[in-house]
Amino acid sequence: MIRPFSLDLSRPLSTASGTIDARTGFLFDREGGLGESTPLPGWTEPHGACGEALREAADAADWDAALAACEGTPAARHGVSLARLDASARRTDRSLARELGDDPADAVPVNATVGDGSVEATGDAVADAADAGFETVKVKVGARPVEEDVARLRAASEAADVTLRADANGAWSAKQTRRIADDLAEIDLEYLEQPISASTLDGYRGIDAVDVALDEALVHHDLDAVLDVADYVVLKPMALGGVDRAREAAVRARDAGVEPVFTTTIDAAVARAAAVHLAASVPDVPTCGLATADRLADDLAADPTPVADGHIRVPDGPGHGVEVERDA
Ligand SMILES: [Mg+2]
Repeated sequence: MIRPFSLDLSRPLSTASGTIDARTGFLFDREGGLGESTPLPGWTEPHGACGEALREAADAADWDAALAACEGTPAARHGVSLARLDASARRTDRSLARELGDDPADAVPVNATVGDGSVEATGDAVADAADAGFETVKVKVGARPVEEDVARLRAASEAADVTLRADANGAWSAKQTRRIADDLAEIDLEYLEQPISASTLDGYRGIDAVDVALDEALVHHDLDAVLDVADYVVLKPMALGGVDRAREAAVRARDAGVEPVFTTTIDAAVARAAAVHLAASVPDVPTCGLATADRLADDLAADPTPVADGHIRVPDGPGHGVEVERDA
């Protein structure tokens, strides 16, 4: 069964195809398993194509046929594959994390995110995040001159004893990135995320002073090409076609010497819980970008992934552990 939903965002989200005010998607129910498909423009298929694939999957004779109906529509496949994993885990009374991996962690470390702001405001926001218990803070950069962003990051590093990451969302050129790489190394940044436009993988070769994480690049390039130049790779289950595929990608990353970091595409409660189970199933997973519940003003259920002391506890199973009321 397919249940459409629309959830208001707490603040507008800018995407590749404009600004959105709500996340609209579908719950997919089958054989006692529940999955979520929340397409996001620029990352997945459009809403219409997602709904169409899910309708075909709902009519399919078995799970394999249902999944086959979702090839090429990653958000739809996320929903169907999650429903299948959830159904299987519930049948054996196991958590989704245990369904995915042998000895899952009980909790996953997550980072706080600090948006654009003045040098002073950035330092204050990082100090607040540290006070709230976060050990890792990601600072958004790229909205102002590069040197000012470096000053913001320096203020951030002086404001609190936390691990710092910066995410430029492709705003910088290779030349700008190379110019400030030494400054970023001096600040002891854990990694610089997607400094250069996602469309190109050229330009990373000369950047050795600071580790690079690639995120949006996965929309334009296959995983192996990304792993070839990245130190970290940011994996979004909804964009990759499911937690199973995201886990396969993480294993391939590790084999290539690249660390996998899991984040969401600002998903609802079911997909967020699934992403936490997924992260917990990867041994010694780096700090993840899964503290995204506050981006939604409404949700499908009471938040299954609250943050405490910079960690999200893996929701109790069986399955992903999230129940959604019929009329939600
Ligand atoms: Mg990013």
